[in-house]
Amino acid sequence: MASKIEFAVNMTCEKCVDAIKNCLSDNKDIQKVDISLDRGTVLVETKLPYTIIQEKIESSGKRAVLKGFGDNSSAVSMIGGTSGFSKNKLIQGVVRFIETQKGCIVDGTIDGLDPGDHGLHIHECGDISNGCESVGQHFNPYNCSHGGLEDDISNRHMGDLGNITADTAGRALFRFQNNDLKVTDIIGRSLVVTENADDLGRGQNSNSKIDGNSGLKIACGIIARSCGIFENTKKICSCDGKTLWDERDELKKKYTQLLDFKNINLDEKR
Ligand code: ZN
Repeated sequence: MASKIEFAVNMTCEKCVDAIKNCLSDNKDIQKVDISLDRGTVLVETKLPYTIIQEKIESSGKRAVLKGFGDNSSAVSMIGGTSGFSKNKLIQGVVRFIETQKGCIVDGTIDGLDPGDHGLHIHECGDISNGCESVGQHFNPYNCSHGGLEDDISNRHMGDLGNITADTAGRALFRFQNNDLKVTDIIGRSLVVTENADDLGRGQNSNSKIDGNSGLKIACGIIARSCGIFENTKKICSCDGKTLWDERDELKKKYTQLLDFKNINLDEKR
């Protein structure tokens, strides 16, 4: 199921428009591209994760910031970083939830993980005042046992999103769809990543039917409402007067420093 994604891109002339069109052409997973030089926006209809589209646009040499997502309700959870919580302060990511007529699309990128599988769950409370310890249990409105994303809703918690897989660089990039999940039901709750893989309720451990025996909650973020396409007119951050582009560069710089820090730590352990 494709969804619409809107980016702000710092285009200055028709040449920029052509360069971006070029970067997004010839891909069967990109259904539609609509570029407005006046508004400084690129609207893409696609099945691909937004990070991949962002990287494609930026391969033109222009910077891109995500502005809006989906025709209807959408929500976002900032994992780790300054808005969320990460136990070791290294995990950072953004996960988006987009309501469509055929269910909810979950699209995210989380960095700084140990390579391999990690459980991903929606928890009932949006309280991270005590890190991932104050988020309550898995979101479970029908009072069921723990299961996997593919199980019938009567055999899983609503908040059971299965596993995400981090590559050798520690990045998990994912996009999946679930028909039972509604964006309006999960706004104000939280999203949690676990240390270990989720056994989807199929293990022998006593925690299997509770949390998939997925171990410690290592990073989390509150799920908040986010802008749909054309809803976000922001060009300057209201809190400090910085432009979208300043904000983005600062985040990138900070994150690169974090990664360097992690690499140094890894080297020391070897
Ligand atoms: Zn569960």
